[in-house]
Amino acid sequence: MLEELYQKVILEHYCRPRNRGRISSPDFSAHDNNPLCGDEVTIFLKMNQDVIGEVKFDGAGCSISQASASILTTVLVGKTIQQANKTIDDFLAAMKNRRFNESIEGDARSLEGVLKFPVRIKCANLPWRTAQKAMRIEDVCENP
Ligand code: ZN
Repeated sequence: MLEELYQKVILEHYCRPRNRGRISSPDFSAHDNNPLCGDEVTIFLKMNQDVIGEVKFDGAGCSISQASASILTTVLVGKTIQQANKTIDDFLAAMKNRRFNESIEGDARSLEGVLKFPVRIKCANLPWRTAQKAMRIEDVCENP
């Protein structure tokens, strides 16, 4: 059972996280936590003209939340805000509907394994919700 949850890709991101750290003057950032598990994640995004040039995460918590944050950073780079929001919406919908399809990109597909463990879905979703929150706050400021 545990082997399915901690699939190779998830473990790999947990043990060797991509883009871990902080961005000193991000264009977007947000922090959120998952009280049930004690997971904490902060997401930082820096734009490069119209696309996301850099994404970093900082945080602590269970392996699923931290691996999911690492995976998130790899799928957002190079996207416009609109594309990034779509990617996040697709992922959260897949988790909610318990069905992954081809719209889920790259290493994010490995998180399908978490569906078998409903209590961990919140852990997997946390970084994605946090990134969504970061970009939503900025939207409000730009379009008051
Ligand atoms: Zn967790």
